[in-house]
Amino acid sequence: MSTLTDIEARISSALENANRPRGSVKLLAVSKVQPRERVAAVLEQGHRIYGENRVQEAKTRWEPFRNEYTDIDLHLIGPLQSNKVKAALDLFDTIHTVDRERLARKLADEIQARGVAPNLLVQVNVGEEAQKTGIDPSKADAFIAACRDEYDLPIVGVMAIPPFDQPPEPYFEALADIAHRNGVDEISMGMSADFETAIAYGATMIRVGSAIFGARDPSAVV
Ligand SMILES: *Cc1c(COP(=O)(O)O)cnc(C)c1O
Repeated sequence: MSTLTDIEARISSALENANRPRGSVKLLAVSKVQPRERVAAVLEQGHRIYGENRVQEAKTRWEPFRNEYTDIDLHLIGPLQSNKVKAALDLFDTIHTVDRERLARKLADEIQARGVAPNLLVQVNVGEEAQKTGIDPSKADAFIAACRDEYDLPIVGVMAIPPFDQPPEPYFEALADIAHRNGVDEISMGMSADFETAIAYGATMIRVGSAIFGARDPSAVV
C-alpha cells in the first residue's frame, strides 16, 4: 500500500467511526518545502488537492505542474500578506487564512475588480497564542459577519492550527462551534498527528504533510 492509500484508508475508517458519510472530508496534501519528485509521485497517483504555506514558493512549484496536470485544486494555508493578495488570487482556488480587516478589504477590492473569487475561510487563533496568526476566538463571529456583510466575501468556512503542546480536542470542538453558529460548512483542521481526531470533531478539510510526503527538510526552504 502506498502512503497515500494508507492515509485514505485511515480517513475512511475515521469517517465510519464518526458515522459520517464517505467522501465528507477533503484531504489536502501539504507539499510545502517538499522536493519536487515527492510531489510528482503523489500527482502520479492521481491526487489533485494540495496545500501550500507561501505564495511565492507555491507559484514556483505549481505553475509548471499545472501545465502537466489538469484539475489541480490548490489551497493557501499559510499567512497572507496584503501585498501578496494579487499573486495569491492568481494561484489559489481556496484561501484558508483570512484573519484581519485590512486583508479582508484588500481581498474584496481585488475580487471585485476581477469578478471572480476563490473560496475563503477565516483563520481563528483558537489557542489565543501570541505568536500565531488568526482572529481571536472572541472576535470571530463579528469578523465573519463583517467579511460577509461589509466586504461581500464568499466565506465558506473556518480554519485553525491548535497549540502544538496540548491535546487538540477542546480546540477542534471550539472551531466546530464557531463554524456551526456562523452557518459555514467548511471546517479546516487536523494535521499528520491528529487528523483522525479532527474528523471525529467534524473536520471537512484536513491538511496532511509529513505523513504523506515524509519529514520536511528544513534546510530546503524554497
Ligand atoms: C505544515 C502545515 C500542515 C501539515 O503539517 P504536517 O504535520 O506535516 O501534517 C498543516 N497545516 C498547516 C497550516 C501547516 O503549515
